[in-house]
Parts: sequence; C-alpha cells; structure tokens
Amino acid sequence: MPPLRQVIASHRLRPRRSLGQNFLHDLNIARRIARAAGPLSGATVLEVGPGPGGLTRALLEEGAARVVAVERDPRCVGALSEIAAVADGRLAVVEGDALAFDPASIGDGPVRVVANLPYNIATALLLRWLKELGRFDRLVLMFQKEVAARLAAEPGSRRYGRLSVAVQSRCAVRRLFDLPPAAFVPPPKVHSSVVALQPAPRADADPELLEAVATAAFAQRRKMLRTALASLFAAPDETLANCGIDPRQRAEDVDIDGFCALARALGTRDA
Ligand code: SAM
Repeated sequence: MPPLRQVIASHRLRPRRSLGQNFLHDLNIARRIARAAGPLSGATVLEVGPGPGGLTRALLEEGAARVVAVERDPRCVGALSEIAAVADGRLAVVEGDALAFDPASIGDGPVRVVANLPYNIATALLLRWLKELGRFDRLVLMFQKEVAARLAAEPGSRRYGRLSVAVQSRCAVRRLFDLPPAAFVPPPKVHSSVVALQPAPRADADPELLEAVATAAFAQRRKMLRTALASLFAAPDETLANCGIDPRQRAEDVDIDGFCALARALGTRDA
C-alpha cells in the first residue's frame, strides 16, 4: 500500500475542524485498535470516518474479509481509492453521511464496527447503533475520554447517567486504552479512549421505557427519586419500593437492574 504520509500529501488532506478531522498518523496505534477488534479474519467491518485510511489499512492488514468505510469528505474518498486499488476487493468506500447510512445495506451477516469516530456525531451514532444492535457482533470505538467515562460509569459516580444506562443495559462495556492529543494530527483539545462494546441486550427491559425512566430520573438527579419520578408514576413511593429501590435514593444510586425494574413497572402501568 502507498505510505500514509504520501497519500495525505498527494491528496492535500489538510484536516478540517468542521468534519472533526484528527488523523492518526502513527500506524502502530491504528494496528493496536484493529487488534483490539480482532480476530478479524472472516469479519465484515463497518468503519465510519476512515479519513486518509490509517485505521482502514490496519483493518485490512489484520485480515478483515471486508471493510465498508463510510466517509463524508470527498477528498478522503479519493485518497482511499488508492488503498482500495490494492485491497483485492476487500475495501468498499461509501461517500456520504454516516448518520444516514443504513448498516442493513452491508448484508445479512454480523458486522463489526471499528472506528475513530468524528466526535461531534459519536454519541448520536452510538445511540442509533444501539437500536439495531442485532446486526453487530462487536463495536470497538474511539471516543473522547469524557464520553468513554460516561459509557462505562458505575452507579454512584457523577458520570453515571442516561448514556450509561442506555449502553450498559444493552452491552458489556470495556475501556481498552487512552490516547493523548499528541497521537493525532492536528492534536484535539481532549484526550481520547478506545472502548469495546459487546452486545448483551437485556431481554427484560424495553429500550424506550428504559429511556423514559432514565430521562425522568436524571433530569432531576439531585432530587430524591420519589420526586423525580412523580411525573411517571401515580404512587412513586410504592412503585420504587416494589422495585426494591429506596424512594429517598437519587438517580445516580440506582444500578442497571434497578432501572430495568422501573422500566418494567412503567410498561405495566401503560398496559
Ligand atoms: N479514521 C481516521 C483516522 O483515524 O485517522 C480519521 C478519523 S477523524 C477523527 C473522523 C473522520 O470522520 C474524518 O475523516 C471525517 O471526514 C469523517 N466524518 C466526519 N463527519 C462524518 C459523517 N457525518 N459521516 C461520515 N464521516 C464523517
């Protein structure tokens, strides 16, 4: 494959802040991310925001059977065609907005998502993928460190919130490693973390009911749950007690089992 720096130079890929472009030039880091998503032989990978293709080439080198790379910047799409030309048909580049891309278009088999995400749409993309989690066998994603902390936060932590509940009720979350701003060109203002999400959806909680309960609970996170959930339940003290939760607790004290119990109670109320 043509050297990454040469591809960047020949396509004049000056990073654009508006597209969240912070490129990985260090291929050792790209390989580390690809290996964390492995083994890749036989895997179909969805990569969002391949940019000049540092991570893309690592995914191909690690043996991915197929990489579908969705990139919004036409300049990068041109650069990626040089990699596609020597990838034996294993790389398909789709020019477009990842938020509008339907993973179903990749085919029926399991898809592994591996991406150094554009941070301005990272959470929106993740919430969308959670809704169609059955398509994915694993997601290995780079987030800004603060978002990764929210994804993995445990009850009692100030980072524990709606996002933690939405993700942890459907996936096992593992923070793999952190990267400093200097790992990217240009360096972003924030530190980054690579996170692995293993789908393990809880059969006993409807995601929409869970979202409704978590939204109400964390909208008033300083208040006791008996107050924060008064808009959802006619007799919040009784409902909370039936769910095994002290009504004087606050949202951040309730674990995922507790939120699932409350979502079931909300479903029963609506029945
Ligand atoms: N994967 C490359 C790397 O690690 O060097 C680039 C990562 S950079 C943080 C994010 C990439 O996402 C950029 O290439 C940017 O053009 C692309 N991007 C931004 N918004 C996008 C969108 N809505 N859909 C698809 N790609 C997008």
